[in-house]
Parts: sequence; structure tokens; C-alpha cells
Amino acid sequence: MEEMQSFHPNHLVRTKYENILENLDSGIILFDSVGVLAFVNVQMAKLLGVPRKSLIGSTLTQLLRHPQITRFKRKKIIRIYRETIFHRKRFHELLDECGRSWLITMTYGDQMEGDFLISVKDVSDFKQIEQTAYQNDKLAMLGKISASIAHEIRNPLTSIRGFIQLLRPHLMRLGKDEYARIILTEIDRANDIIYEFLNSSKPSAPQTTIIPVASLLKEVVLLTESEALMKNCEIILQHSEQIPSFISVDVKQIKQVILNLIKNALDAIDGKNDENNNGIIEIGLEQNEKQVNILISDNGAGMDQNTLNHLFNPFFTTKEGGTGLGLSVSYRIIKNHGGSIAVDSQVGIGTQFVITLPIIEMSNT
Ligand code: ADP
Ligand code: MG
Repeated sequence: MEEMQSFHPNHLVRTKYENILENLDSGIILFDSVGVLAFVNVQMAKLLGVPRKSLIGSTLTQLLRHPQITRFKRKKIIRIYRETIFHRKRFHELLDECGRSWLITMTYGDQMEGDFLISVKDVSDFKQIEQTAYQNDKLAMLGKISASIAHEIRNPLTSIRGFIQLLRPHLMRLGKDEYARIILTEIDRANDIIYEFLNSSKPSAPQTTIIPVASLLKEVVLLTESEALMKNCEIILQHSEQIPSFISVDVKQIKQVILNLIKNALDAIDGKNDENNNGIIEIGLEQNEKQVNILISDNGAGMDQNTLNHLFNPFFTTKEGGTGLGLSVSYRIIKNHGGSIAVDSQVGIGTQFVITLPIIEMSNT
């Protein structure tokens, strides 16, 4: 009777452990000291794409020859094996066919009494967070550097402006007032650019106004129409008046973002060099209960994977006179508004940017 009692909980504990291991969301596989596969859990069998039963008792070589192991997986297993045995690496990271990241951990040595334990964990979400944190960090630094440069440039501009005004009567006497006028307008333009930039790169909270998103789009399109016309390009604003969404935004900043995207689209159409095909930029709106999507598509040159990977990095540009700031600044502005930007592009076909912003609930009662 006593024996039964002590056996019973022990037995229970063992099956519980086994159950846990078998159904853990990480994949686990154990090779014993002579290289025979002694344990494999459900998740690992799923990852390998091979039924568990057919795995137990096989060696690594037999596993590699298993008809259900794909070539891709075989290559990865061989690489991990090499790195573990020859370079004594205990951690590996790999990307699978679907672009997910996996962390592979090896445990062996004294504590394992000759066994090799391999665990595989899906770390894609973690990677994503890491990437975003890195991106935000770089943007914050860019914001600080550029804000101080912009600030430093503004001071000399102010004194130049003052002295030109002092010189103006003399220039007038020489019949060169036109020069003074041009210098002054150019300085004012430079000041405007710096002002805009400081405004958008400052990490401070945006100055928000509540405004219907459709009217904001209309205004921006008006601003770009003449430039588009010059480039033989048509801007189509689609049925946006049917979308009643209101957004609470810093109007100047959001206009700047949309302008940036339209300018990029115009450049992409310019860069396509397709005489027979007219450039078209379509701007649309979509909404659901919580958000509104602003869609900006062009039939321009499109982007390759490398460009897509670096798109939002400060100073990344593929244009001769480009600054590579447009999209990184836009990204920051949209983030500050609690929104997001997504992009979809195909070389030779075109590009679509989607800005998502939260909408404001307006009660009509
Ligand atoms: P810039 O316009 O000064 O190059 P951006 O940050 O605005 O800087 O854009 C970065 C890069 O992204 C561009 O150089 C271009 O290669 C690419 N890009 C942006 N928008 C588009 C688009 N609509 N079509 C094709 N490529 C684009
Ligand atoms: Mg740009």
C-alpha cells in the first residue's frame, strides 16, 4: 500500500513531463551518445515534415535520407551539424522558406551525459520587434542630428537676410533691385524648408486638428497637379468624398507625408522612361470602424527587394539628387500619429503605399 502511494505520484509526474515536452510549442529532438534519435516532440516532427514514428531510432544519416525531408531542410540540417561539430556553435538562427526566423539551440556536454539536445523556437515576432526598435532608434538619432543642423543653418541665414536688406537701397540705385529680391525670396524659401523640416523631425507631439480626411487629400492633390501635368502624368482622386472619416492630425505634417509619397511616385514614373505609357497616380480611401487607409499607387518603375528592404532608412536613396529623407521622415510622422505605412511594389509594374490612420468617432446626435 505504501509502495503504491509513492509510485503513483511519481508515475504521474513522469507522464506529465513527457506530455509537456511532447506538446511544447518549441521543437525538441534528442540524439543519444551513439547518435541515435531517442526523442522527438510533436512540433519538431511538424517542422521536419516527417511523422514522429518513422523518426525514432534512426541516425542522423538516416534522417537526412528520409524521403520526406525536403532538399532545403536537408541543406540546413547539414549546415547546423557542421557549425555545431566543427565550430562548436551552440546557437543558430535561420530563415525558413516562408521568411520566418528560427532560433536553434544545442545542449550537450557533461550535463547531458553524452546526449545531444536540439531545440527549435520560432523567434519571428521577437525579430520583428528588434527590427522596429532598431529603426526607431536610428530615426530618433537622425531627428536630433538634423534638428541641430537645421537650427545652426537658420542663424546665419537670418543675418544674411538682414545685411541684404541693408544693401537693398544701394542695389536699387545700381538698378539691381531684382538681385536683392531674388536673394530674399531664396533665403525665405530656405527658411521655409528648414522650418518644415524642424517641424516634422521634432519628436514632439503633433499639433492636432480634427479634419475630414477626404478634404485633406483634395487639398494635397491640388498642390501637386501642376507638377504632375508638367511630367505628363495624371493624378486620379477616387471617390474620396464618399468617405466621411474624420482624423485628428497635424495637417501640415500629414500633407507633407502625402506630398512626399506623390513626389516619389512622380519620380518613379519619370524613371520608367516609358514613352507609350502615361503615368497614372491613383489616390484612394478605404475605411473601417477604427481606421482609414490612404492608398497611393503609381504605375512607375517599381522597386526591387534591396530597395524595399532599406526604404525607410534615413539617407537611403537611389536617385542622383535624392536626400533619402522623404520616407524616413514620413514614417516618423505617421508613427507619431499612431498609424502605419505599408508598401507593395513590383519592378516595371508600379508601387502602392498604404497609410493607415486611426479615425475619430463623430457622434451626430
Ligand atoms: P528620395 O526620394 O530622396 O530618394 P525617399 O526616402 O523619398 O528619398 O525614397 C527613398 C527611395 O525609395 C527612393 O530613392 C526610391 O528608390 C524608393 N522609392 C520611394 N517611393 C517609390 C515609388 N513610388 N516607386 C519606386 N521607388 C520608390
Ligand atoms: Mg522622396
